[in-house]
Amino acid sequence: MAVPSPLHRQFDYLPPAGGEQNSLCPGMRVRVPFGKRHMVGVLTGITSNPGIAADRLRHASQVLDASPVISEDMLALAGWAADYYHHPIGEVLQLLLPASLRQGRPWKPTQNGKWRLTDAGRQADAPQPHRAPRQACLWNLLAQHAEGVDTTALATHLQNWKAPLKLLEKRGWVEFVVPPVLAAGARAVAAGPRLNAAQQQAIENICAALDSFRPFLLDGVTGSGKTEVYLQVIVESLRLGKQALVLVPEIGLTPQLVERFRMRLGSVAAFHSGLSGAERLETWQAASDGRIPVVIGTRSAVFMPLKNPGVIVVDEEHDASFKQQDGFRYSARDIAVMRARRRSIPIVLGSATPSLESLYNVRQGRYAQLHLPERAGNAKHPRMRLLDIRSRRMEEGLSDLLLDAMRQHLGAGGQVLLFLNRRGYAPTVMCHACGTTLQCARCDARLTLHADQRLQCHHCGAQRPLPERCPQCGGTDFGQYGLGTERVERALQRLFPDTGIARIDRDSTRRRGSLNALLDTVRSGESRILVGTQMLTKGHDFPDVTLVGILDADQGLFGVDFRSSERMAQLIVQAAGRAGRSLRPGEVLIQTHHPDHPLLRHLVADGYASFAAAALIERRQAGLPPYAAMALLRAEATAPSAPMAYLQAAKTVLTACLGNDIQLLGPAPAPMERRAGRIRAQLLLLANQRARLQQVLGTAMPELIALKQARRVRWSLDVDPADMY
Ligand code: ADP
Ligand code: ZN
Repeated sequence: MAVPSPLHRQFDYLPPAGGEQNSLCPGMRVRVPFGKRHMVGVLTGITSNPGIAADRLRHASQVLDASPVISEDMLALAGWAADYYHHPIGEVLQLLLPASLRQGRPWKPTQNGKWRLTDAGRQADAPQPHRAPRQACLWNLLAQHAEGVDTTALATHLQNWKAPLKLLEKRGWVEFVVPPVLAAGARAVAAGPRLNAAQQQAIENICAALDSFRPFLLDGVTGSGKTEVYLQVIVESLRLGKQALVLVPEIGLTPQLVERFRMRLGSVAAFHSGLSGAERLETWQAASDGRIPVVIGTRSAVFMPLKNPGVIVVDEEHDASFKQQDGFRYSARDIAVMRARRRSIPIVLGSATPSLESLYNVRQGRYAQLHLPERAGNAKHPRMRLLDIRSRRMEEGLSDLLLDAMRQHLGAGGQVLLFLNRRGYAPTVMCHACGTTLQCARCDARLTLHADQRLQCHHCGAQRPLPERCPQCGGTDFGQYGLGTERVERALQRLFPDTGIARIDRDSTRRRGSLNALLDTVRSGESRILVGTQMLTKGHDFPDVTLVGILDADQGLFGVDFRSSERMAQLIVQAAGRAGRSLRPGEVLIQTHHPDHPLLRHLVADGYASFAAAALIERRQAGLPPYAAMALLRAEATAPSAPMAYLQAAKTVLTACLGNDIQLLGPAPAPMERRAGRIRAQLLLLANQRARLQQVLGTAMPELIALKQARRVRWSLDVDPADMY
């Protein structure tokens, strides 16, 4: 039994007292006593060799389901994920169920199907009216209706129909069939554009693999028609009566995408955090029954049950949001690949800027790469250029070169998009008298000044007004350093007083509907300059944007994380992808103090593929992922020495399990040592072979859990960490 507890183990119970054991199946929910409380667990297996002495076994209190709520293959997938990420299975299974089912509320499989006789039922001798009158009555009714009878009709025909029906079902004579709504979905398809040769080729390749596991990396520049490829592949899969699962980084940011799928495919369910509990349950149930042909969802939708999956798509597969950053630190992309593999179906990972991991998998022959080299329709690639801003005149982060280009594009009727990955007004506030910078009291981080004159910590969320006096010297003169989107917006209002400006970042879009309202001002032409964070780079289509300016490319060149440059390159290319999406040619200008930086040069001169090839060489030389398997053991506590003490002890345990094929680095303080009042440290494991790393972690885990130092810290293991903070 898997119980929602952080304990890394399962628990054995006896069936409920007086209950029938033979009606139990893995995947059913069972209410069990757990310590002094009751919990809803999921039955994972039935054993005659319990792990504890028979006299200490307790009875489960209640079996909550008549049939499994989690299918066998999803149970196995969860088991795999729990093993791979070394996370408690009880917590993993929580992700597979909507909240109301986790809480133990009853689950009724949908009733909009019909009962009908099975082949065996039709051939069997009819039940004898004098021995089993109600069974006989049902049998007769069903025999007259080959297409089946729904429960409403059953109820009008026979008052107590449930028990006799169950008996007939047990004999294998009747079955409940949910009508295949999929055919209706397929009919609703509207025609798409005529495909170009590369799209055609990609679709043929994927469709040729519709009944086998085959991972594809669909590598196509923004606007090259990847979404068209997904749509056509899904249409083909629907034709075969199979469902499709589409994972996207964020649905709130890309409502147009869901609309486009709906227009083309008919019934499409969106699954994301914005839904109410009831809506989530309904979608979950419908997907599970096979009533919904297509589900589009964010990270957690990778665990959406599907009666008959035919293909999985992961759009923007490089996006960091597919990796959960706390609790169960899974990668939805990687689990999706495993899910496809277990179900023997193809999976399409699409991106204009594929992750180095996926490109590496292509090189290893594990993924097949499909290219869409050209923009679809008549749109042209934007031209990319570095702006050497060393010693240039700057106006709030905008060089004279960039300002000139902006005037030119605006003058020609184009729109301008400026990208800066920092929200707020100024990231640093310093006392002019003594040089003290204003710091978060709970983090090793500076407070960001916002335009409303409040200070915010972007790490723990703390907020306070800008103080009147410096806490060190009492001085009253504060300087504001660095640039956030609000500051750029204000400068733009001054420099372009007659031009509408839209700022798009987490602050300006906090209220429901505000993002759409802002996007509307861009579409209508009311706003002609957009400035924003990475929110802007995701998925939007701005047909009239002809100039994209990257205000600060240097940010990504010198980050503490080994993935900083990869992230920055992806952001630049994704931002660039917003330009010139229609007929007007686009231009991309990248401000940098390091115009000779090799990675930037690769990116600008030859594009993302060339950048990625160079970055992969760097990773190989440094022995970093994807050329090594990585895991990060993190610990944090309010007591300053506790995290290091735990990690030292953990290191001793791990060292005892290691061969010389695994490196341990640390323990060392985390790059941001103090966050939200906790001291943080980490121990890094690097191995040439993933299997070896898994093996060592598997062996060490019980001891890492049992360490007495563990009681004084919060610790977690992050397999394939996406960031190093
Ligand atoms: P991506 O997903 O790679 O960004 P999309 O599939 O969204 O690309 O296509 C970009 C734009 O080009 C869309 O407006 C789409 O309707 C259009 N498009 C896609 N394929 C074709 C095609 N073969 N011919 C004409 N227009 C196309
Ligand atoms: Zn803070």
